Amino acid sequence: MVIIFVALFGACIGSFLNVCIFRLPRGESLVWPGSRCTSCDRGLSWFENLPVLSWVVLRGRCRTCQAPVSWTYPIVEILTALTLVSAYELYGLTLLGGVRALFACALIVLFVTDLQHKILPNVITVPGIAVGVLCSFFLPPGWRDSLLGILVGGGTLFAIGETYYRLRGQEGLGMGDVKLLGMIGAFLGWKLVLLTLVLASFAGSLVGGALIVSGRGDMKYALPFGTFLAVGALVAAIWGTPIVDWYFGFYG
Ligand SMILES: [Zn+2]
Repeated sequence: MVIIFVALFGACIGSFLNVCIFRLPRGESLVWPGSRCTSCDRGLSWFENLPVLSWVVLRGRCRTCQAPVSWTYPIVEILTALTLVSAYELYGLTLLGGVRALFACALIVLFVTDLQHKILPNVITVPGIAVGVLCSFFLPPGWRDSLLGILVGGGTLFAIGETYYRLRGQEGLGMGDVKLLGMIGAFLGWKLVLLTLVLASFAGSLVGGALIVSGRGDMKYALPFGTFLAVGALVAAIWGTPIVDWYFGFYG
């Protein structure tokens, strides 16, 4: 019963994340005006605003202008529901579970905005770093680990970006990526931020390799690194601790 409630709640949160994904890169208000068709600007009634269900029933089209409604809307809602259910199963109704769920929601927004607009909005990453540090005073990973995480995460990426810039004379990594990895370090600590970097690089190579093999190698450069960082951090936030324990138990 509780799982169903968490899933439904997650889908509604996902619906709000969709609003953030659409409006933040455009600098629009998140609360006003209410949801409307992005094509004909007609305000949506409540039954057109139900997570996932409305999209399926209306077959992904606006009732008035027939403009297609992106499939990212239901995907984000389902992904958020699944994330909140996983967080609940692993952490229960605890403060840590809530903080990890909030962090995961921010990552979902960053993943899509980087994919669609190639930006990681400062309004998420900069306060994100502060919230991560604040929470670390009374939650894992603890404030020392959190500060070290910002330094290791942001610092490593900044060094890689600088080296790349010096060698190639063009920007390979943006400051948005550096701030994102700083935020990940603040929430997860230095061990999990390193795990995030490893996972993101691995996922990046896999996807890049698959695109080259399928003859779409030019697409490789169309995929921003921030999307891979967000996916890596989502995995690290939920399953990272068991992975790190296993690793250090094995070699340490
Ligand atoms: Zn419309």
